[in-house]
Amino acid sequence: MAREEKGASEMTPTTRVLWDAVEWMCKAREEIGEGMDETSTKRALKDYHARRRPRHCGMTVHSGIGCDNKCVYCYVPEMRFTAGVPRSYPLSPREFALALASNPWILPTRWGTFLAFGSVADPFHPLLAEKTVDYMRVAKAVLGNPIQFSTKMTPTQQHMSFFENLPREGVSPLVTLVTVKRHRALEPKAPSPSQRLEFAEKLSKMGYRVALFLRPIIPGVTDREISDILDEAKSHSVDVVVAGSLRITENIVERMRASGIAINEVLKRAKRVSKRQTPIYSRDLKKMVARECEKRDMVYLDSACCATALATEVPCIELCWLVGRCTGCPNKCYEKVPELSSSEAKELLAAIGCEEVSKVEVASDTVRTRIANPSPQLAYLAKTLFRRNVVFEK
Ligand code: SF4
Ligand code: SF4
Repeated sequence: MAREEKGASEMTPTTRVLWDAVEWMCKAREEIGEGMDETSTKRALKDYHARRRPRHCGMTVHSGIGCDNKCVYCYVPEMRFTAGVPRSYPLSPREFALALASNPWILPTRWGTFLAFGSVADPFHPLLAEKTVDYMRVAKAVLGNPIQFSTKMTPTQQHMSFFENLPREGVSPLVTLVTVKRHRALEPKAPSPSQRLEFAEKLSKMGYRVALFLRPIIPGVTDREISDILDEAKSHSVDVVVAGSLRITENIVERMRASGIAINEVLKRAKRVSKRQTPIYSRDLKKMVARECEKRDMVYLDSACCATALATEVPCIELCWLVGRCTGCPNKCYEKVPELSSSEAKELLAAIGCEEVSKVEVASDTVRTRIANPSPQLAYLAKTLFRRNVVFEK
């Protein structure tokens, strides 16, 4: 049922937000693609961003690929498609927007899928910053999704004015800092910790909800610096922390060894060392970071998606409060889950493409229903929309 047929008076403010998202999802592709030449349209529609399933923490988006900062723990140089010097992503900003709007896994608007820049490059590397700014601008203005970026770089004055003009809500900056003492050995070409902290402070003073990205924690090496790192962050107006574990491969272990980094503790925590990326055991280290944050009245988050949720003031799209990853941050996702009747849920399910919707039951954490065309894509989209687990019953 279309929104007009349903009648705006029946909607609560929260269901109106859901209808806005669905409505824009249904027409964004057509509107963005209007007047675009055939070559551009084809390039956008066959691109990775048009078909890829979001990962944990949202949809990873690329304004560039590759990095030459030579951080010893980095997996980017050894992935086949990301090896080599950084190169700007080939899509124009409008093609990028069309690709995302055409991706059947993605719900647009502030309520929609979280977009994450920085998984296969540093988005503010000097060779990529221009494209990043253009992509972020179009993502905010046209699609409206929450965006997160992780960086170690220090953007130029020109790019700082981009941040001055960007709406603060729905932007989650993660400034990566894993060491204040060993950065020359661990991150030889990245800007110094003090430069990164200055950037974080500037963003924070502009009103962004900046988080310190403490990833990876390297046991036996950087875990000994946690207190100093947190004190530095706090003194630079950063009061949110996201911690993450180290992922190793044979090459990463070799590079760490060659750089004189003690790796005994890393190896003790590794299930295996192979060509595949494998996270090492870090639960105790993350708990320790959480305790240190508490002592300093800082907000500790277990997942990057929670930082986007907190910055946007919407419930986390990964439902972290339902799966044991909630650290009780001030966002209180559980209080932001939209109230929903089964008839509203039924109409919204039909609007996103579910066929022959029947038996809709809505609870605070789950929507159960029966549809004629169940698929993981529809389940994911409905989960994002309702901020509940969605079960398609047989
Ligand atoms: S800055 Fe990021 S992407 Fe670049 S080498 Fe370091 S960890 Fe990898
Ligand atoms: S309330 Fe919990 S689940 Fe929600 S963003 Fe905060 S830590 Fe994450």
